[in-house]
Amino acid sequence: MSATTSRRDFIAGAIAGGMSLSAALAAATNKAYAEAPLHINDAPEVWDIETDVVVMGYGFAGEASAISAAAAGSQVQVFEKSPELYAGGNSHVCCGFIQLSTGPGAVNYWRAIAWDGAPEEECQAMADNCALMPQWFNDNVFEVEISENAPERQSKSFNGVTYEQANVINMQIKTNYDKGEGYNKWHALHDVITERYADSITVNYDSPVTHLIFDPQTKEVFGVRVEMDGVEKTVKARKGVIMACGGFENNYDMVREFVRQHYEQFQIGSPYNTGDGILMLMEIGAKLRHMAAVEYGSACQYDLSKQYHQSCSVWDAGDLTHMIYVNNHGKRFYNENVRWPAHDKRYPEPCFIQEAPSLETANYPWWMVYDETRRGIKTIFNWSNPIEGQGWIGIHGPDAGIHQWSDDNLEEVDMGIVLMADTIEELGEKMGFEGEDLQNFIDTVNNYNENGANGEDPEFGRTPTKAESAEDGVGMGITDGPFYATRVCLSYLNTNGGGDRTVEMQIKDWKGNPIPRLYEAGEFGSLFYHYYAGGGNVCEGFVNGMVAGQAVSALEPWA
Ligand SMILES: Cc1cc2nc3c(=O)[nH]c(=O)nc-3n(C[C@H](O)[C@H](O)[C@H](O)COP(=O)(O)OP(=O)(O)OC[C@H]3O[C@@H](n4cnc5c(N)ncnc54)[C@H](O)[C@@H]3O)c2cc1C
Repeated sequence: MSATTSRRDFIAGAIAGGMSLSAALAAATNKAYAEAPLHINDAPEVWDIETDVVVMGYGFAGEASAISAAAAGSQVQVFEKSPELYAGGNSHVCCGFIQLSTGPGAVNYWRAIAWDGAPEEECQAMADNCALMPQWFNDNVFEVEISENAPERQSKSFNGVTYEQANVINMQIKTNYDKGEGYNKWHALHDVITERYADSITVNYDSPVTHLIFDPQTKEVFGVRVEMDGVEKTVKARKGVIMACGGFENNYDMVREFVRQHYEQFQIGSPYNTGDGILMLMEIGAKLRHMAAVEYGSACQYDLSKQYHQSCSVWDAGDLTHMIYVNNHGKRFYNENVRWPAHDKRYPEPCFIQEAPSLETANYPWWMVYDETRRGIKTIFNWSNPIEGQGWIGIHGPDAGIHQWSDDNLEEVDMGIVLMADTIEELGEKMGFEGEDLQNFIDTVNNYNENGANGEDPEFGRTPTKAESAEDGVGMGITDGPFYATRVCLSYLNTNGGGDRTVEMQIKDWKGNPIPRLYEAGEFGSLFYHYYAGGGNVCEGFVNGMVAGQAVSALEPWA
């Protein structure tokens, strides 16, 4: 992007040209990177900005890293790629659930989570540091409370290690904010930064870091290049740089190459997480790790998600009644009451089965089919809803002019993204089914209804939810016309790839040597690899931020 074309002008132009806001944001941010000079120089003679510690990114990991470094006596410059309005990354729009594993079984728990993706000493350090976290918060941020997991969760286990054995606890943060829990917590920490740490932490918005500045021989990192108001500036980091720049879920090249997804999936979080840090790691020759680890989100409405390049999530059947999913041949393929495997790192296989030789993916995107009873109960739209205050659309949707799903699910019929018909056959035809596929669809609904009347599902083992149970008189069938269908697909919560690292969060090269003065925190280089435990990403954002901030602060300045 040239000095005469600001990001704001670019975005305004893109929107005027018909691009959605979030697509324009992502394009603007990618453009900034692509046009920056790609060569790496040694440290320049005159620096535009000087500080002790540079923090790249301002989600929870960036906030915790900055506070930790400042509390240890360092001057900190935070560079955040997004404008202030959209700052906070995935942290700002997440559910804010925090789980720390602190007990004697914690090392086994982290080992199970990472599988063979992290050494024993890292699992041990994570267990030790989780135990320190509440006190660190109380000392340097604000008072937090700890609570036990609900008894029914205590038996949850990863590779045989239960929450009870690992003493997995919730860290509760009370705030004065009342939107989504991620939003509330991010703003509470931001207030601490701007009030208590105002003399030592400067936050720069609309300032994407484009390159690390390092010695090509030793790899020692001296600072970063940052684009500010369309001009590239050099920033000296006397002690070091902490990369807290989140995931690559908006970088479709990376998603395809690292996660092996060819299908249309849409992220629920910040459009600014475009994998810039991964490119910087590749430039310096750092060892990447956990690039294939992705957390899938819930199902989302296909047409709207595609239009906005953002997940517009729908409730799944566990929360709905009178609905089924069918594939592109009119057949059910999944027990809809099993929540889409967003967490625990289960690959949502049923979606992605390919049929040789065409390699058609019959189950993706698929259809949600429901009846008039379902239509009248509540909106099928899920947490990407301003009332819930989660997901990027949940927080920013109204500002960004994104369609807000109607409470009675009717406006979307007029928009043509929900199909409506008086009979199942007519609905099938509107969905584009012909011949065998149309008959499949009719048979599927009839079979489901016949068995559903008895609360049974011999094919996929679906059992009635409380709302569907006979006592409530709702039933499992798709029985009351008119009937409806809408296209659904999958979303991402976040990726976990980043740099391989020491227990102090120092990034290593491919030979295993720590790179001088280069650190990371948060989901960038996450410990999560084989499994994901809900509440774990925010946990490591804080825990790793604490560790990285302290470690960088303790370094002797190079200048
Ligand atoms: C809807 C949703 C719900 C979730 N719920 C939970 C939950 O309840 N509990 C849980 O543990 N996890 C949850 N997660 C995951 C969790 O939110 C994230 O993993 C975590 O917040 C990541 O924090 P982070 O600081 O590492 O990254 P982020 O919060 O994503 O911050 C990264 C920041 O880096 C910035 N950045 C990127 N590139 C650059 C650059 N070149 N220069 C400068 N800045 C840059 C980005 O703009 C962004 O602000 C959820 C995620 C989503 C999307």
